[in-house]
Amino acid sequence: MKNRPSFPVGLDALNAGFPAIGKVRSPEVGMDSSAVRKSMVQKLAGQGITDALVLSAMGSIERHRFVDTALANQAYEDTSLPIGLGQTISKPGVVARMIELLRQGASGRVGRILEIGTGCGYQAAVLSQLASEVYSIERLRGLHEKARENLRHLRLANLHLLFGDGRLGYVKGAPYAAIIAAAGGEAVPQAWIDQLAVGGRLVAPVSTGSAAGGPQALLVIDKTPQGVRQTMLETVHFVPLKSGVA
Ligand code: SAH
Repeated sequence: MKNRPSFPVGLDALNAGFPAIGKVRSPEVGMDSSAVRKSMVQKLAGQGITDALVLSAMGSIERHRFVDTALANQAYEDTSLPIGLGQTISKPGVVARMIELLRQGASGRVGRILEIGTGCGYQAAVLSQLASEVYSIERLRGLHEKARENLRHLRLANLHLLFGDGRLGYVKGAPYAAIIAAAGGEAVPQAWIDQLAVGGRLVAPVSTGSAAGGPQALLVIDKTPQGVRQTMLETVHFVPLKSGVA
């Protein structure tokens, strides 16, 4: 395949970054992982991501720590990967694109961000580098707990992991400067719009057809003093936004 990184991304190199399996991290391994991340960031820039803070956050969070060890060698390719319970971690290109949209050209950190769909916790970690506080909700207890484990080593004091139905938002953290959804429903729940600050922006995948599991597009909602402005962007493929917890 074209565009594959030409440096070593073998499992051994990446696995050595996991203290849990008893290997000690060596400086060479650290360099391998940072080299593949750097290449990923260069590709993101090549795809049109220009926000320097987004690129630097994507370069600093180790995506291979958020996927199964058997998939670690694919962690820096622009592909979504399974994370268990039928869910997937989004492609780096989509994570970067959505966060760039969310920041709408801001020069510094965004205020409070609400993320719906913690999954493995990767995007939450990237968001934590760019926001004052991040509230991230997951409806599957297994993934909520997995994310907690995946994120432990980072000790992100501004990241709050919540277990619940994200369609209701999280009132206690509102109003949010930004809301980002990692799962797509038929429409954006009213609770999200209510919990968005005036001047804030929401980015979410929504169904464009009538069938569940059908086509989706990215929807951007800007809440202005004059009202809500909606912009539909490119086609995307996200797991469905579901109700209740499990
Ligand atoms: N941002 C995640 C992507 C996970 S995939 C990552 O970096 O890994 C989307 C996630 O949304 C899944 O884990 C799914 O369980 C979750 N989800 C779907 N509907 C939800 C809801 N109503 N509330 C909270 N999470 C939801």
